[in-house]
Amino acid sequence: MHLRCPTCGERPIFLPLQRTRSLSDWFTPLDGCPRCGYPYEREPGYYLMSIWAVNYGAGSALGLLLYGVLEWFFDLPLEVLLACVMIPIVLFNFFFARHSKALFLAFDLYCDPHEREGGDGGGNVRLPPTFPMAPAPVGSAPPRDPVEAPKSGAPVACSE
Ligand SMILES: [Zn+2]
Repeated sequence: MHLRCPTCGERPIFLPLQRTRSLSDWFTPLDGCPRCGYPYEREPGYYLMSIWAVNYGAGSALGLLLYGVLEWFFDLPLEVLLACVMIPIVLFNFFFARHSKALFLAFDLYCDPHEREGGDGGGNVRLPPTFPMAPAPVGSAPPRDPVEAPKSGAPVACSE
């Protein structure tokens, strides 16, 4: 919910608000975590489920709830009722889009942790990052961090 890397919790998944210049910046996650190397987009279409199931589902639930409340407690004309239901849904879906992707990332990590554990040595192995950002060496600044200057403090070990 804080829009941070699901593995280390240190770095943001998206560009910060003050550096967001376009809709694409708003909706598109960064390539991966500059700190621990966790890839945010594993494959093309990775976020389809987050858009449809999480964002669309939550928007629909909000719409149904709004409609129920307005219909039950107020006697509104149909046009007003529709506007009062649809405008908040559009706004909600726009602002919830980032959270839906972050939730989906966390959910995917929870279900498919990508760690070397159990199994027969195959399958569930963490993949090396395929994007051009190398994981930061411990105790030094990452080579290219698109988001923010590195914070001082104790380095947090990522699970690997
Ligand atoms: Zn991370």
